[in-house]
Amino acid sequence: MKHTISFYFFIFFGLSLLTGIPGSLLAEQWNPEQQEAPGNRRYDEAKFYYNQLQTSQALSSSRDNWLKGSRNFRRIYLASPKSALAPSCLFMLGRIYSNMYEKFAETRDLDESISYFKDVVRLFPKSRLADDSYFALGGLYLNEKKNPQKAGEFFREIINNYSTGDMYPQAESQLKILSQEHNIALPKAMMSSKSFDRLSYVLPVKYWSSDKYTRIVIMASNPVNYNEVLLGKTKDRPARLYIDFKKSYIEPQYRAPVPIEDGLLKRIRTGQFSPDTVRVVLDIESIENYKIFSLPDPFRVVIDVHGKTPPPPSIKNIKRDKTVAKHNPQKQGNPQLIARTKAKKMLTPDGTHKQNKLVESVPSNEKLSLAQQLGLGVRTIVIDPGHGGKDPGAMGYGLKEKDIVLALAKQLAPILRAKLGCKVILTRETDVFIPLEERTAIANTQNADIFLSLHVNAHPSNKVRGIETYFLNLSTNAEAMRVAAMENATSTHQMSDLQDILLDIMKNSKITESSRLAQTIHNSIVDAAQNKGYSNIKNLGVKQAPFYVLIGAQMPAILLEVAFITNKKDAKNLKDPLFMKMISQEIVQGVQLYMESTTAQLRGQTWVE
Ligand SMILES: [Zn+2]
Repeated sequence: MKHTISFYFFIFFGLSLLTGIPGSLLAEQWNPEQQEAPGNRRYDEAKFYYNQLQTSQALSSSRDNWLKGSRNFRRIYLASPKSALAPSCLFMLGRIYSNMYEKFAETRDLDESISYFKDVVRLFPKSRLADDSYFALGGLYLNEKKNPQKAGEFFREIINNYSTGDMYPQAESQLKILSQEHNIALPKAMMSSKSFDRLSYVLPVKYWSSDKYTRIVIMASNPVNYNEVLLGKTKDRPARLYIDFKKSYIEPQYRAPVPIEDGLLKRIRTGQFSPDTVRVVLDIESIENYKIFSLPDPFRVVIDVHGKTPPPPSIKNIKRDKTVAKHNPQKQGNPQLIARTKAKKMLTPDGTHKQNKLVESVPSNEKLSLAQQLGLGVRTIVIDPGHGGKDPGAMGYGLKEKDIVLALAKQLAPILRAKLGCKVILTRETDVFIPLEERTAIANTQNADIFLSLHVNAHPSNKVRGIETYFLNLSTNAEAMRVAAMENATSTHQMSDLQDILLDIMKNSKITESSRLAQTIHNSIVDAAQNKGYSNIKNLGVKQAPFYVLIGAQMPAILLEVAFITNKKDAKNLKDPLFMKMISQEIVQGVQLYMESTTAQLRGQTWVE
């Protein structure tokens, strides 16, 4: 910084020498008439002596000569403290003491210099030397006083009050550096100026973590380009994954490192890497893999980090898994996808052994819950009532989707607990807004075995009615895409972009299992409706589409659209407590059937519909 100031002074005096005009008068308005006044002549003489001090080694080595130089200006100032030359004299005094401090390293000179520059801005805020004084003060506080906060305040004065002054560009670049190195907040004016007008704000990092999984979400004010780099562990640094957000800015208060310490990640560090790049660094403890993707409206980047997976399954288990896949009535999706998800579905040989033992011990141990008796690891179910708070979801016939699904979730939870002995967690228990990616993160970090997202459908045509159940997958079906776009609160156009990367994201998903869970629950509801007098509800079937809330879910995960709020008859059902009770009971029934069929798989039998 010292260099910057010296450089600036050099230009200043270089120019003075070339033109023969006193430097301060270059900065002041050039007024030939003032040149004739005695004050001006004395000022020129004082300036001449100062220039000699600058250039003559012999003169400048004596402190007394510098004090003489300062007296020259002080006398002129005291003779007419309100003259046009007054601010120039004070400015020169500030400069002389600054030079003296550089030369003799006496703190009193530094303080003297600062007080003269402060006099300029205090007494002559409209002088053309005011911004130069602020800049000098910024430099002195930054480099000599080691006070970047205070320095930032002086540079900010220039941005906020001297935007047309010649010091503006230099103050701007100083602030950019301060912002990076010392977390100094940038003034608003700078954020909207040309150099910053295309920068997006990166918001504070959010995360959800467990010992097997961590989800990190980074929101930005606008869609931004980003790229990630994975660096291996070195001698003195941990492995790390960093993500650079281009043309972005993060406010200093959001830059503190966030400790995670969950066994996967040590911490997350966020900083302004360069004037227009924000870098988020994940310091890695031990991870198996990660997935990174962005979601629109609002733009956010999601990073799913997975811990080490169990040892590879035995051949016996692989065979069993193939049998299941062959008998899967859905035969949904890309066979490649199913193959990819297999590895995740299999239990370790060790785990299988334990599970079988549990099943065998059922008759002798009455305390076991059904979940334990069935022995499949369905111990935790996360129910996700869609929407909430500022997001009402679909509306019609005086009903709001957010209220219906919350009531349904609250009705469903105790039945699941009582009948299946599972731990049941709701993503929300009140009328609050929760972002979609947070709902999945809750299910993953709670190690849920099943994820049920509850919704109510809507359609532009009030004739459309019925029940449909979804699981996550690519889709080419326009109607399914429309429903997903509605639930994702985005456009189908945005989602078709997402489809391109969905294949990769879904490597950790349980698509086959999700499809089976969807079919089982869906059938339970539809069958019961027929038997219980709701024979007119329409079976729209099990479908697949890219629902954000299901992306990254590590357990079988489905989304239910129980009825159309936009259809009169469906809406009437939604208001009918008996209908809602039937839905709850049949969801539980479906989960139970799913658990039983999974147990059958574990016993080595093939699963049939
Ligand atoms: Zn919904």
